[in-house]
Amino acid sequence: MELAGEPSSIGEDLFPWKKFWAVKNIAPKIKMFIWRALHNGLGVLQRIGKFVEGVDTVCRTCNTHEESTDHLLIHCNISQTVWFASPFGLRLQDNQHFTLHQLIGQWLNHQDSRYIFGLGASICWALWKARNSMVFERKQLNVQGILNIALYWFNLYYRFNEDGETEANNQQQVEINTHAPNWVTPPANVIKINVDAAVKDGHYAAAAITRNHEGICCGASTILGLSDKPVVAEADGFLLAVEPAIWLGFDDVIIERDCQVVTKVLRGKMYSPPWRIWRFIDSISARGRSINKVEFNFVPKRANNTAHSLAAYALSNNVQSKWISNQIPGNVVSSVGIVSPFFISLYQKKKKSSRSQFDDTVTRISSNYERL
Ligand SMILES: [Zn+2]
Repeated sequence: MELAGEPSSIGEDLFPWKKFWAVKNIAPKIKMFIWRALHNGLGVLQRIGKFVEGVDTVCRTCNTHEESTDHLLIHCNISQTVWFASPFGLRLQDNQHFTLHQLIGQWLNHQDSRYIFGLGASICWALWKARNSMVFERKQLNVQGILNIALYWFNLYYRFNEDGETEANNQQQVEINTHAPNWVTPPANVIKINVDAAVKDGHYAAAAITRNHEGICCGASTILGLSDKPVVAEADGFLLAVEPAIWLGFDDVIIERDCQVVTKVLRGKMYSPPWRIWRFIDSISARGRSINKVEFNFVPKRANNTAHSLAAYALSNNVQSKWISNQIPGNVVSSVGIVSPFFISLYQKKKKSSRSQFDDTVTRISSNYERL
């Protein structure tokens, strides 16, 4: 039997150490942690048990297996849950002999190794930190918390550009796979506004869609701008979201989007926002204060589909406008899949009449509604 954490079938000679040392976009402490883990240098109970007599080497998390490096970082129940919920979506329960060497070797040999290794290593590190907090501080393990820490460190270093500016980028945005359903309705008396942005050739469009607890659209707006920086479009989108809440007179609002950077800034969890969005942050905060209660939430991309489609529509059709519910043009409604009260009432009237092209459109909208 192989000793867990020691060079396995990938072999010390075959392990891509050159690639390992070449990786730059990762926190140095995480890189050193991985090096230690690969050299069986972590203070796991199995290793301590070799030096100290009488130590109980059973994993404190699952109480069923010996705590080796491989068990702790790959095979323990909590680690498997974390890997599955992570952007990797890894299922490892069928492969109990898979080792950390094999896993990291695969990441480093992957064509997108910079991203995969950076993310995977950050998750390993967060698992180790969480294990230590549990053992030494009796803190409970929390899958979401572990992933948040991993993604924080990954995002911090992965996006660090040569010019020293931390920049958000849609393509590189990493989100947590929470297995959440698609868009969910807000509680009664609360309005939910979804925001998204699209960027192409130096132009951007941001879109905001306002819906009530029945999923009915109460208003929508789009704005066009000049910038090739996704983070600028994201910030402008937030500003756009705050406006309908004010002009439609809502005072309890949830604003959702799939950009973590701006959401974090607005929630006060990031104190050094990218300089390009400074001018937006103040305006958003000032306008936000005129609403009684406003909450900024980060959601997975699939829960933000409609806003995404409206932003894409606005960008390709050059549309900048504001509409209240029944003013939204039919072509926007049908291409984006918004449910407006106007269309619902027409659909009810038309239900019994002969099938027309209009019915097809409404049916498509209704099925979009059901999908939400
Ligand atoms: Zn365990």
